[in-house]
Amino acid sequence: MSQAVLANVLSALEILVLEYQGNQFFQVIGNLPSWYRSLMGADQSYAAIINLTDTFPFLTYFLEDACQFWQTRQEHALKSGLWIEVDESGADIPLEASAISVAGQEILLIALSQTTYTEKSVLIQQGRENVLAQSAERKRAAEQLRHSIFYDWLTELPNQSFIRLRLVDALSQIKNDPGCSFALLYIDIKHFKAINTRLGLWSGDQLLMMVAKRLSEQLRPDDIAARFGGDDFVVLLRPVEGEQDIRQLTERIQRHLLAPYAIHSQEVHIQFDMGIVLGTALYQQPEDLIRDACTALEYAKGHGTEDYAIFHQTMHLQSLTRMQLEHDLSRAIWQNELRVCYQPIISLTDGSLQAFEALVRWQHPTLGLLSPNQFIAIAEDSGLIIPIGAWILKEACEQIQQWRSQTHLPLTMHVNLSVRQLDQLDLLDSIQKILAETQLDPSGLKLEITETMVFNNLEYAASILRQIKSLGIRISMDDFGTGYASLSYLHQLPIDNLKIDQSFVETIGTSGTESEIIQAVVQLAHSLNIDVVAEGVETTEQSHRLKTLGCDYAQGYLFAKPLPAIEAEHLFDQNFSALLTAPTA
Ligand code: C2E
Ligand code: MG
Ligand code: MG
Repeated sequence: MSQAVLANVLSALEILVLEYQGNQFFQVIGNLPSWYRSLMGADQSYAAIINLTDTFPFLTYFLEDACQFWQTRQEHALKSGLWIEVDESGADIPLEASAISVAGQEILLIALSQTTYTEKSVLIQQGRENVLAQSAERKRAAEQLRHSIFYDWLTELPNQSFIRLRLVDALSQIKNDPGCSFALLYIDIKHFKAINTRLGLWSGDQLLMMVAKRLSEQLRPDDIAARFGGDDFVVLLRPVEGEQDIRQLTERIQRHLLAPYAIHSQEVHIQFDMGIVLGTALYQQPEDLIRDACTALEYAKGHGTEDYAIFHQTMHLQSLTRMQLEHDLSRAIWQNELRVCYQPIISLTDGSLQAFEALVRWQHPTLGLLSPNQFIAIAEDSGLIIPIGAWILKEACEQIQQWRSQTHLPLTMHVNLSVRQLDQLDLLDSIQKILAETQLDPSGLKLEITETMVFNNLEYAASILRQIKSLGIRISMDDFGTGYASLSYLHQLPIDNLKIDQSFVETIGTSGTESEIIQAVVQLAHSLNIDVVAEGVETTEQSHRLKTLGCDYAQGYLFAKPLPAIEAEHLFDQNFSALLTAPTA
């Protein structure tokens, strides 16, 4: 008897014959019995192939058992089972099945069960409940699996895999209809590592969840926000109508994200860098979009005016240059390419030399002399600022120690500290070690910090600064007025000195209000026992005005530019009082 004839005979007896094809597929051989059709619904009169995953739970359960049974490869052995399915009308359909393996063929025969014995019914019922429980469990497990594949466990936002699929969709849509424009926004939390260090990992997680929530609140119906990993988030914005629209959407999200976060009943301020790429039909795959959004993000980091940037082809080149610089910088210390220059700080009372500020430069082998603005941000992002910062501190301490013993003047050295250094766990040890090695009295050192460095977590910063102060080192607040311009937090920080940013100084004489601001800052600082340095003083008009406003010290090109040590030594004998008098008209 041929296989087809046998199958037809069996199906005439209302027996369903399935042959296992591997990979969870079963081929129906012969006709479908009527009970199967009533189970599948009237419109499913024919099914050539049954997939294990899309049949009924009970049958699925037996099919799975059968597959396992066949794996044991027992020729002529038989596995059978009993169970009940429920058809569309809710009626029970008792079934019996046998799995057999004959001459390498794996066949399953399923028939209506004729069994009416009570014991068997009880057995069936028990088996059924068992199966029900298991199938519900399997469904849940499958759902969980799906969730873990496509969603982020912490924030519950879609994850990287999910957004990649959506980007594939968006790209294929835009190829068919260029009107379906979209943009990808890549968001990175600035200094997130510092937040983790300062507040602890738990708080870092809380913050990520809050950011995710705020992002979700800003979405339009078709936008999708996802956590891309770590502190990186992306938003698929669609539709978008050109660059202006993208800017508006981004700025709205940015405003919403920038409001302070309450963690552990503390107010935490964070900032973000954002890179945006506009989807076009020229993009082939999601990776290319993501790469360009990241390039725009790197660009935004390096050009900190707006905190976000929209991708443009020229950015590729810049990002390569930046990577090359980072690579070169990693060798700059060992190749002896870094130089420290010293700029004098002058007393406005009598024009005497009081201190120096150490300012680093990089003598690049091919690009020439680079200013800190061209490489400090790269050093911070790459972590290289830690060894570079320590090297600068040691150079500067050694230098001022030598000058103090040479001149017998109580000169001090100002050294800029980076936010990354402030978060360095062994910062205190490293400073103490340098002081010990250079034998510099701590009173000869002032560390400069900026408002932005302390503002995102005032309590933490205050505690680190107090520890630094307990070593006898003084603290100076640099670039005052450029960050949050808030005077209210000054009293919470143990600072000795405040440097008014040059943007205030340069407007002296052009508008009346700047002088008033400077005067108010000086008065407040003095009431808190903080003395004031004016930065970027370039004219005698400015120095004179600052003196009359009560400012204590000044620094700027008027007195000297930052100089190599050997040239700075010529300033020891100079008195600058002539530069403090008003120019005669
Ligand atoms: P800063 O600490 O506020 O330093 C003052 C900057 O103003 C210096 O720029 C200085 O050369 C410049 N300057 C001084 N007087 C005048 C003036 O009269 N007119 C004008 N237009 N500019 C003046 P520089 O050396 O390019 O440094 C820029 C910034 O880079 C510094 O600002 C500081 O934030 C950072 N930096 C410099 N050296 C270091 C360092 O060793 N470590 C760290 N972490 N940052 C550094
Ligand atoms: Mg400074
Ligand atoms: Mg400054």
